Amino acid sequence: MADRILKILKDVVGQEWASSDRHNLISYTRDMSPYPTKEGEYIVLPGSNEEISGVLLVANNNKIPVYMKGAGTTFGGLGIPRSGGIVMDFNRMNKTINIDEKNLLFTCQCGQNVYNSIEQLRARGLDVPLWPMYGASVPWGSWVNTSASGMFQFGAGLVWDNLFGMEVVLATGEIVKVGINGYANCGPIARYMAGSDVMGIFLGASGGMGVCSEITTVIRTVPEAIEFITLGYQDENIEMMTAALQQIGREGVAGEVSIADDGAAHLVDVDIPARVLLMVYADGTLEQADYGGRVVRRILKETGAVEIEFPIGQIFHQNNALLGSMTKKYGGGMDCLSSFASSYESFAGMFRQYKEIYDKYGMFNMWYAWVMNGYILHFPWVAYPEHDPDFRQTAREIRDQVYDQWFTTPNVSGGYFGPFPHMIKYLRPTYYELLRRVKRTMDPNNILCPGILPY
Ligand SMILES: Cc1cc2nc3c(=O)[nH]c(=O)nc-3n(C[C@H](O)[C@H](O)[C@H](O)COP(=O)(O)OP(=O)(O)OC[C@H]3O[C@@H](n4cnc5c(N)ncnc54)[C@H](O)[C@@H]3O)c2cc1C
Repeated sequence: MADRILKILKDVVGQEWASSDRHNLISYTRDMSPYPTKEGEYIVLPGSNEEISGVLLVANNNKIPVYMKGAGTTFGGLGIPRSGGIVMDFNRMNKTINIDEKNLLFTCQCGQNVYNSIEQLRARGLDVPLWPMYGASVPWGSWVNTSASGMFQFGAGLVWDNLFGMEVVLATGEIVKVGINGYANCGPIARYMAGSDVMGIFLGASGGMGVCSEITTVIRTVPEAIEFITLGYQDENIEMMTAALQQIGREGVAGEVSIADDGAAHLVDVDIPARVLLMVYADGTLEQADYGGRVVRRILKETGAVEIEFPIGQIFHQNNALLGSMTKKYGGGMDCLSSFASSYESFAGMFRQYKEIYDKYGMFNMWYAWVMNGYILHFPWVAYPEHDPDFRQTAREIRDQVYDQWFTTPNVSGGYFGPFPHMIKYLRPTYYELLRRVKRTMDPNNILCPGILPY
């Protein structure tokens, strides 16, 4: 059976682009999450949409699981082939299809890494709408499937808010353009207007709904100037940060707002005279950035913050600065509370509960958050001795206690990718059933990424 399948896969993608050799499979067994490693049975590197379709047809006809691997940087073990089967690597599909400078649109194949796109665009004075903080190798196919946040999301929204077109290959092999370019002669000039938002089914789906083969994103011009201001709040006036966030949103002067705590500052060896930092970037023309800076400093005074002169925000925003330092200090024993979203008002209470519980257990913890215009996407982390499974188990148990406190309040939800199995109990049963029904329709034999998301 194995040899027969391998032969068919080689017929689809070409002799040198399919393998079942262990030394090839091993490099696809792990990612940067603490999830156990697992080997697939085949690795394939399709070179076109038609080849992706051919591989999916083989998988669907033979009920073989298919996993998609990008750079392996998720915290949820999304790239690990949990049930074996075929692993798809999109490194061959890395071409730029169009840079439309007039309409500010960029189209590329799913395997092009985001930093490669950024380099090409910057050479023309252009940029992607938001800047990721991961390393250089994450491709677009992964980014749009893992919900995708980044710097400048306060003004720009998440990556999916900027996607105007997508081509997908369904589990059953059909190649479909979704979004407005569902119209036969229309390119990807807007996301909707061809019926419901079908593209939305494939975004943040962790590969479970279809394979993304091509994306079109809005791009922007590089801002002429950026004014960085960091506001520091003490324990007793964290609530005032909420007021500052609301005012910054109302004034419309910031492109980027993020939050970090003193734990994050400790990771990059900086002592800050504050418990929580609000890092604000006002961008635009010289005049706009200058005006934005003055508005933010006024808000700073009105909300009792201190201005942190040290350029800590810029250090955090260097690729991997935070997690790289965490890995250096604590090895691989670290866990993200797999991210969730909340209203501004919920932050102070959640932050205090979190600190109290992890401090009680003596675990290093730190908090980083992207602020959206209206809500916050949080990334709290804990670290523990790398090779101590008991400690890890304890960390997980505490996480569940923390979730029980948070997720039973009205303004907190899971966010980012997911929902992971431990979050199902917090979903409304009617919503969960709808999600499962969509999955069954899109992927009747459940070949796409089984065992990762619980539907
Ligand atoms: C230091 C660090 C900083 C980070 N900063 C950011 C950040 O700023 N913004 C952000 O959004 N994330 C960030 N992350 C999280 C992570 O980098 C992102 O979630 C990223 O998109 C994961 O991509 P990957 O290629 O590493 O995914 P992998 O771990 O390889 O997993 C791939 C996932 O995408 C799916 N997939 C891959 N290709 C396709 C395809 N063509 N079609 C359908 N599904 C596909 C797979 O099924 C799987 O679910 C950071 C991670 C680290 C370690």
